[in-house]
Order: sequence, then structure tokens, then C-alpha cells
Amino acid sequence: MSNLQNPPTLNSLSPLGFWDGALGALARELSPQQFKTWIQPLSLVSYDESEQSLILGAPNRFKLDWIKKTFSDRLQEMADEYFGHPITLSFVLNIEGSSAQSPEINPPPQDKFEPQEVLMGSDNSSTEEQSFEIEDHSKLNPNLTFETFVTGKANQLARAASIQVAHNPGTSYNPMFLYGGVGLGKTHLIHAIGNHLLKEKPNARIRYIHAEQYVSDVVRAYQQKAFDRFKRYYHSLDLILIDDIQFFSGKSRTQEEFFYAFEALLSNKAQVIITSDTYPKEMAGIDDRLISRFDSGLTVAIEPPELEMRVAILMKKAQSEGIPMSEDVAFFVAKHLRSNVRELEGALRKILAFVRFHGKEVTIDVARVALKDLLSIQNRQISVENIQKAVADFYSIKVADMYSKKRPANIARPRQIAMFMAKELTQKSLPEIGELFGGRDHTTVLHAVRKIGEERSHDGQLNHEIHVIEQTLKS
Ligand code: ADP
Ligand code: MG
Repeated sequence: MSNLQNPPTLNSLSPLGFWDGALGALARELSPQQFKTWIQPLSLVSYDESEQSLILGAPNRFKLDWIKKTFSDRLQEMADEYFGHPITLSFVLNIEGSSAQSPEINPPPQDKFEPQEVLMGSDNSSTEEQSFEIEDHSKLNPNLTFETFVTGKANQLARAASIQVAHNPGTSYNPMFLYGGVGLGKTHLIHAIGNHLLKEKPNARIRYIHAEQYVSDVVRAYQQKAFDRFKRYYHSLDLILIDDIQFFSGKSRTQEEFFYAFEALLSNKAQVIITSDTYPKEMAGIDDRLISRFDSGLTVAIEPPELEMRVAILMKKAQSEGIPMSEDVAFFVAKHLRSNVRELEGALRKILAFVRFHGKEVTIDVARVALKDLLSIQNRQISVENIQKAVADFYSIKVADMYSKKRPANIARPRQIAMFMAKELTQKSLPEIGELFGGRDHTTVLHAVRKIGEERSHDGQLNHEIHVIEQTLKS
């Protein structure tokens, strides 16, 4: 845990041990999307043994509030259980790049600057300046290449566009905007573009950056009055890969800086590649002029993988781990795990660990045992993501429309049906469902649940449709 200032001594009950265990448990209890959104961004800030207190940090105020409200009871329970006695658990704002120990600081009133962006203290030390400079390398993961990316219907367009851009950066599709749900391969694809270009032009100035990191860089530049350096660096790149740009939402100073960078890069014929969880026009909290820039190049979607592609991914990854998986085993696993590639990788890791440990061959029975927990959860609880996909498939709309703000009836109605089914078939609360449908208010979900529930009782056709979707989900 990089944010932990005082690494614990190695006894059996360490805060790291607790945090590891808690992450593992929550990964099993929550949907991958929830885990990624709320739990993964948390970090262990400090642990005081004499006071028996543990502090967890959230990256922004919105997450902080939500995590406190939704997960603090569960985390408290796990902490008490792990340490064997009551622990004082608290939560603070902890923005990457700021002093990890600093407790919540109230933002000074500042024109145009969003609170999250200035919640940084005013540390002006030389180490901070150095870290600003150190960021000057590509940050590409060499394993994420086109060669290791499996293609199928769901991603062939995105892949084709990426290859095109990798071959002709800065010319044809600029910017390239890639959008899709969690765990579908967006980050993988943009690293592949970067790696390809790096191989062809080793001197190209390439940078992969997650949008949250860019926000931190803006804040640091602001604190250190280093905007010149900031601009010199970002405006001089040949290729910028900026991931999960939805994190710019509401951060107007960051958006302004990015707008300048964007204009400078495009006029230098540098390539800009952006990913997001939704398409430009549907992004909330982003300045209109940026949205229109995002949409001015090529916008491509990446969809959830279909069955055959999930099978191919499992087989390819198993092969590359040196433990081949037969097609029937891969089908067995892929049929049960439907939402995204990250989930498939998790399942594969479990199977491989099991096989290595017990010295067995990979068979369906072995897979069934190794994935016991996963499969029973999947069977008992259908996930909201699966419902969204099944409903979108049934009514031939895009999965992205489930989280979009669009309101035409041909989209709004399936979305309401999906919300209704999410309430019926999962354990999720109305606010949680609203969150998974693009951050909608719980009253919107409630309205949908009531409306569809009422209609269903006298509309035979609707009742039948819901029934059919339910069957596909349970099969
Ligand atoms: P996203 O950025 O869309 O959330 P990632 O790119 O992080 O998703 O993908 C999640 C995991 O799944 C990564 O380990 C990635 O390598 C893998 N992955 C996704 N799509 C594919 C694919 N088509 N072929 C092989 N691996 C994939
Ligand atoms: Mg990603």
C-alpha cells in the first residue's frame, strides 16, 4: 500500500494484512463495477497501534461521503473481526500526490476551481517538484499489446480503429475517443497503440496517463506555480493516451488546461486518444467545448464480449500461462461469467492457482470446484450489469444507453425495465441501482420500478418480455 507512511512491523495482525483481507472479501461481495468504483480507490492512510485506530483515505469528497454512508459498517465489522477487538475506523480525503497523512482540509474559496482540485495543502517542497519531473516517461505497460488482445464482434471496430491510429498517428482519426463499460479492454487497447508506436518510433514522446493523475498534475502545477513546465511537457507530446476521462467531471480548471493541451497537440499533429465510460455527448460535468472537441475525430465503442470471444480469451490466456484449457472447459466458464474480461481473468487465476496447487488437469469438474464461490454467487445473484446487457440485447439498443442521459422512448423504456429487473433480481438498493445506471437519483429508479411493476400486472406482452429476459439471465 503505497500511501502507508509508516510500514507496519511484520506481525500477524498488520493493517496491511487487514486491508488485503478486506479487499479480497469485498471483491467477492460486490459487483466488479462497485468494487472498482468505491473500494479500489480507497487506500490505507495510517494505523495507530496504541490507539487502535485505522484511517482509510478516499480520493475525493463525493467518494468519501458515499463510502462512509454505504461501506463503513461493513468495513468496521471486518476491522473488528480481523483485529479481534473494536477498532476506531475513520475516513479522510486523500488525494494522490498530496501528503498522505494530512487529514481533511477545507478548500479555500477559489474562483473556477473545484474543491477536489484544491484540497491539497500548499506543500511546496523540492521533493514534490522532483516528482513532477519524474512523471516524464511513457508509463506504458509492455504486456498490453495488440498481440495479446483477443478480437471478436464486440471489439473489432475499436481494435481496427486503434491499429489504424497506431500506424498513422496524428493524421486520420484525431482525437480517437474510445468508450465502453468497465473491464472491456479500453485501457489494454490504448496501451497497445502506445506500445506499437514506441516500437516503430523509439524516440516518440508518448505518455499514458489516467485522468485522475492528470487532475493531480494540474493541482501540483497550480501549487508550485509550475504551469509553464506543465504546459511544456504536455503540449510537446507526440501521443497522449488519456484514460477514463469521465474523472474530469466537474473539474473546470483541469478541463481548461486540458483544452489548451488538446488544441496545442492537435495543431502539432500529435495524436490524442481518450477513453471514457460513455460517449462524449453523454458525459456529465464536462464543458461543452471539450465535448465537441472529443466528438470531432473518431468515436468508437467497445461492447461486452460475446460467448465465443470469452471462450477465446480464456483459452488464449490459459495458454500463455502454460496451462492449456480445452474448449469445453472454456465454454463452461464463459457461460457462467458474462459481464467483462476482467472478471474472466479473475476466474482463470483461480482455476490456475487451484490446478497448480493440487497438481491437477483443467477439467470442467476442477473448474467447478475452483470457482465454487464465484459460480454460486453468480447463480444466486444476477448482477445489474448482466441485466443491463440482457435487456439491451433483447431490445436491440446499446449497453451504453443504460447509463446514458438520453431519453427517447425506445431507450428510456428498456432502461426502466432494466431498473425494475435490477430491483427484482438483485439485492441492490435503489441508490445503488441508480448509481449503476449512470449515476441516476434513487427516485428515478423508484419511479421506474413502480411504473413497470404496475404495467406488468395488466400488460401480457410486457410480462412475457420480462419473463424471456429473466430466462436468458438464469440460463
Ligand atoms: P477497461 O479499461 O475497459 O476497464 P482493461 O483494458 O483494463 O478494461 O481490461 C481488463 C482486463 O482484461 C485487462 O487485464 C486486459 O488485459 C484484459 N482484456 C480486456 N479485453 C481483452 C481482450 N480483448 N483480449 C485480451 N485481454 C483483454
Ligand atoms: Mg481502464
